Amino acid sequence: MAAPSRPAKSTPSSKPAAAKASVRTKPARSRYSKAEIEAIFRRFAAAEPEPKGELFSLNTFTLLVAVVLSAQATDAGVNKATPELFRLADAPEKMVALGEDRIRDLIKTIGLYKTKAKNVFLLSQQLVAEHGGVVPDDCEALQALPGVGRKTANVVLNIAFGRPTIAVDTHIFRLANRLGLAPGKTPEEVERQLERLIPEPYVRHSHHWLILHGRYVCKARKPACERCLISDLCKWPEKTADHPAMPVAFGAAAVNDGAVED
Ligand code: SF4
Repeated sequence: MAAPSRPAKSTPSSKPAAAKASVRTKPARSRYSKAEIEAIFRRFAAAEPEPKGELFSLNTFTLLVAVVLSAQATDAGVNKATPELFRLADAPEKMVALGEDRIRDLIKTIGLYKTKAKNVFLLSQQLVAEHGGVVPDDCEALQALPGVGRKTANVVLNIAFGRPTIAVDTHIFRLANRLGLAPGKTPEEVERQLERLIPEPYVRHSHHWLILHGRYVCKARKPACERCLISDLCKWPEKTADHPAMPVAFGAAAVNDGAVED
């Protein structure tokens, strides 16, 4: 465990407010050296050279819709509803023609389905009206679409357009802080740190490697350290193994305890 921190001293009231704010907001440093970070991602790359997302999609538009639907829902849950939705509407024009009520009916097994149906309908309308029915390859334009935040935009840019973006979801946020890899109080802070720390050849796939690692191995409630590829490198004081598992233990193929987190 990390050494307990000393009780904070009371701050002199004469200290300038701007200086106090800058001390509070400075992000913590990574606990890992450049060589250790390189080693971590080299192992992820060796185990899974071309990692893939687990959301079902047919093209860039359906990927965007699937990612919007996956907010606060499991990929498996979204994948149950989307084949029929995408069979009927695999393009923005068809989604608009389908209409909000029908979309809502088709995705009603997914959490927050009413809001999501509205967003899918409206974003399809906007794609037709402003982008000629084409999903834009641009972070700002994507974020201007209803229901699309920074994380969704980064996932689409990464998967559909091959851009080296890192979409920080719940798994990546947990891993970055638990391991001390890229500590941060917000997803944006973690994203900035990861972009700075991860060696360039690994940035593009780092999003998927970290998600797969968090979903299947370094799980929130009970991390499976005994089948972790990087247990010898991991600096989490509570880890329960110190010898790296064989590469086969990485990702979905290794899951044998049924405890997948999404
Ligand atoms: S050793 Fe355990 S805590 Fe560390 S990364 Fe692996 S699974 Fe996570």
